[in-house]
Amino acid sequence: HVTFEYCDQMVADFEKAIKHPIREKSSVYYTGVDLGTACVVIAVLDENRRPVAGAYRYADVVRDGMVVDYIGAVQIVRELKEEIEEKLGTELIYAAGAIPPGTDLLDSGAVKNVIQGAGFELTNLLDESTAANEVLKMKNGAVVDIGGGTTGISVLKDGKVVYIADEPTGGTHFSLVISGAYGKSFEEAELYKREEKNHRELMPVLQPVIEKVSSIISQHIKDFDVQELSLVGGTCCLTGIEDVIQKRTGVFTHKPKNPMFVTPLGIALSC
Ligand code: ATP
Repeated sequence: HVTFEYCDQMVADFEKAIKHPIREKSSVYYTGVDLGTACVVIAVLDENRRPVAGAYRYADVVRDGMVVDYIGAVQIVRELKEEIEEKLGTELIYAAGAIPPGTDLLDSGAVKNVIQGAGFELTNLLDESTAANEVLKMKNGAVVDIGGGTTGISVLKDGKVVYIADEPTGGTHFSLVISGAYGKSFEEAELYKREEKNHRELMPVLQPVIEKVSSIISQHIKDFDVQELSLVGGTCCLTGIEDVIQKRTGVFTHKPKNPMFVTPLGIALSC
């Protein structure tokens, strides 16, 4: 699929830039701040809008798209900002942020305050799926964001979001299923799930809940001309989830090499 070449290249370059920041001089830097339930990610692009640095941290400051630990969120964003500034040898000034599609203005205020509180000048605030599609570049498809608490489906027509839905099934349910099947506590199940080496073994256990997610997707896209799906969000890190979803929905399903990096890169592009 030609559509996703740009995305795959950006994600690959970003992964490299996180490990080895590119210190070449740039007249301006564009920063994207993504506050997720599992992870806070910062992506930095140079004047040519190529990834030059980034950082992320697993954190518990946002739940279901809402900032639940404001001070903690500001602190993490500030620390990640300083860490990158050190590596690049420059100050980061401008940043953009994103909010889950359909979030009301009150919640977007919290995201805005976190980014400004961390010392950035906020240049843009957009919805997460529009941000993701800056990188995915789908014309007629859907962004499927499987997070912690929910699965978000954003249908694109001619590259624009025309329909959004958010259903309360996500990674938390995956962890609950593992907890039940293995007799582990929720926290243990959550950590077990994040280990890539356990994914193959977990697949049969998780199959029913992935099928449930697939049927939710099918239900929401049925009235649209959706030619491709792209998976983002932490839960899509699960090895093989894309195969089950593609088989069940019958729609070509793309999974970026790291589904947690698409949205922050898109946010940075919109900066
Ligand atoms: P929400 O839907 O709650 O708003 P979000 O979009 O902010 O969530 P993400 O940070 O994208 O959430 O995803 C969180 C989920 O991803 C958690 O359930 C977490 O367990 C899961 N997750 C994170 N890393 C992995 C991994 N490597 N393998 C499997 N699941 C993972």
